[in-house]
Amino acid sequence: MTECLFCRIAAARAPAKIVFTDETAVAFLDIQPHAPGHLLVVPRRHVKTLAELSESEVGLFFRAVQKLAEAAIWAVGAQGLTLGINQGEIAGQAVPHLHLHILPRFVGDGGGSIQAVVVNPPQESLEKIQQKIQAQLIA
Ligand code: AMP
Ligand code: ZN
Repeated sequence: MTECLFCRIAAARAPAKIVFTDETAVAFLDIQPHAPGHLLVVPRRHVKTLAELSESEVGLFFRAVQKLAEAAIWAVGAQGLTLGINQGEIAGQAVPHLHLHILPRFVGDGGGSIQAVVVNPPQESLEKIQQKIQAQLIA
């Protein structure tokens, strides 16, 4: 099976501006940055979705995200951050290997809040949706 692009970057078989590696995660600069310090954090293991990470991987992955987010702020002098995962083609996932974007934010950068990526309010009541999600969590 051919390795995906981010598997190759994580294994140092494709070039990237890597800023962090540990046993679980690798972080590198996005090749088409939308902000100074725009980083991608990827798990070393090829998974497409967050749900596929094991409990220990998810802990270590988000610990890396926490460290990198703080480092990015200080490195580029940002005033805030937007963190996000595009999961699934419908959400804009172009590379089928889980990756979390760290986007440093600046006064006057022209960006919006993360809620602005979709405007699709539900037809059902909040109570109904609350019940459905709770039912999934205990299933
Ligand atoms: P997404 O739409 O969430 O799948 O984003 C994929 C991201 O990967 C985009 O922001 C691309 O600019 C970035 N990207 C694609 N190829 C590379 C690469 N070789 N090195 C670094 N970033 C990349
Ligand atoms: Zn991969």
